[in-house]
Amino acid sequence: MKIVLATANAHKMREISEIMAEAGFRADFRDMHAAGFAGDIEETGTTFEENALCKARAVHTFLKEQGTLEDAVVLADDSGLVIDALDGEPGIYSARYLGEDTPHSEKNKDILRRMEGVPEEERTARFVCAVAAVFPDGKEEVLRRALEGQIAYESAGTNGFGYDPIFFLPERGCTNAELTPEDKNSISHRGQGFRAMAALLNNH
Ligand code: IMP
Repeated sequence: MKIVLATANAHKMREISEIMAEAGFRADFRDMHAAGFAGDIEETGTTFEENALCKARAVHTFLKEQGTLEDAVVLADDSGLVIDALDGEPGIYSARYLGEDTPHSEKNKDILRRMEGVPEEERTARFVCAVAAVFPDGKEEVLRRALEGQIAYESAGTNGFGYDPIFFLPERGCTNAELTPEDKNSISHRGQGFRAMAALLNNH
């Protein structure tokens, strides 16, 4: 099976192909640039699912129009951090929170400040990942997985990226940024989402 991932991010591409290979899914992976798609995809949806579908559809439509890789399944994901005490913020705006180019250290500091005084039982949060597939015949599938945790009282750890240093896992007693990459993949929202998609594609 040929897979085109609707991402331009080489790190994401490697992580996803590794997660799916470990789940026993064998395929020929390429990212959207390697498939000839050079444009930007605007995320116009109001949910993680809509945004994942939006990215996968854009690349699927491009491949149809180009007449290349028409037999490929296009996959896309959309993910972010949902904090209950902040009414679900930053949610689908996780990358755009305080501006796309603001360093995550600043974004994390701002969230910790907004969470000051919030008691432990109200610090619940989750990383969400929606994974969408558009098949060559235009059929669509989308699924969602989440990793539950809490917003920490302070930043900790240097692994991972983004909001990992402020995402505390009570059952592990550490933040996401204190896990090894393998450990994180085994529990993460993206790991769960792409393993579920691998199972779905294996049964397709
Ligand atoms: P994307 O949809 O995968 O590009 O992720 C959107 C944003 O959500 C990222 O820019 C991060 O701010 C945040 N995010 C998604 N996944 C993670 C994660 O595993 N750790 C930390 N932050 C994440």
